Amino acid sequence: MEKQKIIHLRQLLENKSRIVITSHTRPDGDAVGSALGLHMYISKLGHQSSVVLPDKFPDFLSWIKESDNICIHQENREKAEGLINQAGIIFCVDYNQLKRANSLEKPLEESDALKVMIDHHPEPESISFDLLFSYPGMSSTAEIVFHIIKQLDGESNICKHLASALYVGIMTDTGSFRHSSTGRSTFEVAAALVDKGIDIQEIGHRVYDTYSEYRLRLLGFSLSERLVVLHEYATAYIYLSKEDMQRFNYQDGDTEGLVNYGLSIQGINLAALITEKEGEVRLSLRSKVAFSVNHFAREHFDGGGHERAAGGSSGLSLQDTIKRFESLLPQYKEELNVLS
Ligand code: 5GP
Ligand code: MN
Repeated sequence: MEKQKIIHLRQLLENKSRIVITSHTRPDGDAVGSALGLHMYISKLGHQSSVVLPDKFPDFLSWIKESDNICIHQENREKAEGLINQAGIIFCVDYNQLKRANSLEKPLEESDALKVMIDHHPEPESISFDLLFSYPGMSSTAEIVFHIIKQLDGESNICKHLASALYVGIMTDTGSFRHSSTGRSTFEVAAALVDKGIDIQEIGHRVYDTYSEYRLRLLGFSLSERLVVLHEYATAYIYLSKEDMQRFNYQDGDTEGLVNYGLSIQGINLAALITEKEGEVRLSLRSKVAFSVNHFAREHFDGGGHERAAGGSSGLSLQDTIKRFESLLPQYKEELNVLS
């Protein structure tokens, strides 16, 4: 981690100020975990800190300390925009282009606050930020937040609650330490968090074993009725219409992890989850071999992400999005069929 940047950040944090920590739309474990971890640290330093997210986060994260103080822009526009307007420093964690903050994009653009980006996605939109901590090689933003705190003033300010929040970010973004981004540093950071007394088993249960009955049945339905396997292109996708989701009383976060099931089929190298949302169709993409879903999403679905985990959207209908997705596969046939 560049020393100069740590020095710069230390200087910024010398004077007490109003600080807002933001993250991306449809916040996941890393977005919420890294934002809350950073928030707990900043608060300990004596700053007035708030976490502002564009929209709701899944219920399985609501046990994390301080999550009940998160201000959701979709639910309380006035308060969220007020906090952003008054902030001297704004942290943007787990995203690297303002567009990813969805409804917060405009308030962020209009704010005079100093913007500090902390993120692990490739190709940051550098112009939007004053200070960038961009480490695409890191497993998660939570891992970067740990390194930043450690370099600023050691680990003594990391309490069990803060450690648990960061651990959630690391655990969820690495698929429980399985993805290629998991490296030596990931395990070292996890070990340091364990030293803070976190309960790994409990955290695992709280994040992964709190399905509603509806969510489990939606999973069963998706796998038996909505999974399409195209062996010729080493591709599998699941599609869900609005009616499908309504039928299973869909709640935010209920399709989290669903895309990975396609990849669990032997010989499948590309998996997609295609869901019909209000006004758009969302795509969630994962790959096993060196097939860049980041580039695929950027090129064809106005999206982006990581090499092997990315997302995007389409303005077409669900059926037309599926047709378009299938029609793109032949040009990637060789890349997709490389033996993994
Ligand atoms: P997920 O499929 O879990 O929603 O997202 C996978 C990864 O891609 C995450 O790191 C997420 O931040 C990123 N991602 C998802 N959707 C988009 C998008 O529309 N644009 C960009 N740039 N990244 C996305
Ligand atoms: Mn992340």
